[in-house]
Amino acid sequence: MSKLFDVSASCAIVTGAASGLGWRFAEVLALAGARVIVGARRLHRLQELGLRLERSGAKVEVIQLDVTSNSSVTACFAYCKKMNIYADILINNAGIAIAKPTIEQSEADWDSVIDTNLKGAWLMSREFVRQKRDGASASIVNISSILGAKGAKQLASYCASKAGLTNLTRSLAIEFAPLNVRVNAVAPGYIETDMNRGFLRSSAGDNIKKAIPMREFGQAEDLDGAILYLCSHASRYVTGSVLTIDGGHTAGI
Ligand code: NDP
Repeated sequence: MSKLFDVSASCAIVTGAASGLGWRFAEVLALAGARVIVGARRLHRLQELGLRLERSGAKVEVIQLDVTSNSSVTACFAYCKKMNIYADILINNAGIAIAKPTIEQSEADWDSVIDTNLKGAWLMSREFVRQKRDGASASIVNISSILGAKGAKQLASYCASKAGLTNLTRSLAIEFAPLNVRVNAVAPGYIETDMNRGFLRSSAGDNIKKAIPMREFGQAEDLDGAILYLCSHASRYVTGSVLTIDGGHTAGI
């Protein structure tokens, strides 16, 4: 049983690891013994994370990465290949939200949200599978959102991108199953990170909290178990699934 959630022989790429949930996912996988490759645009933040993880004995590679750019994505995998590193876990976590009424959103706003949250995951997954070692099993985890199944005011592009990501998960799961690659999504509810802590602790946040049956926001650590489960042998027969982690927020009608 102790081997069920073991990822110590794995190598994981985590996108958007410069802060928040991605930072935590990289920490969790590294502490569980996996080699981690951390990517995002802010190199100084990744270097800080890299040093921290190396001090705890982890093997870490830091790669500046813009998931919206195919050339940046292919350069990331080319670097790994040059270093003889073949990842078998991909966490598509990089994401942004632009909260504004639709009539005030520009085309560029729409494009940047869709390109980061949806196209980025597709570009990364495509390259990941292209470069995977023949026969090796692998796991892709897409960080979607409860807003991939619900609508929200001023967040149309975000909700559309996450709905797309949830269904990309299912489509890639079907297509990649014969290649021994599982593809699943995590749909978090409101999880406190640096990005949203101010908002969640405001009166608007209090109103949201009242709609959560468990009456609290999640913490990044609340996703640890889901990440280890979906990345390890414990979920060997699970693909195309969406694991909701939201304190019961979306359980009711
Ligand atoms: P953060 O803003 O802290 O993290 C987003 C990360 O994505 C940053 O590290 C950022 O780094 C990176 N990123 C943004 N654009 C790009 C890009 N083009 N290429 C590479 N990396 C990029 O937010 P969270 O940690 O809260 O969110 C992480 C994920 O979880 C997102 O996908 C979000 O939608 C999802 N999520 C979060 C919830 C929450 O309540 N916190 C709830 C549901 C889902 P950099 O700017 O350096 O590139």
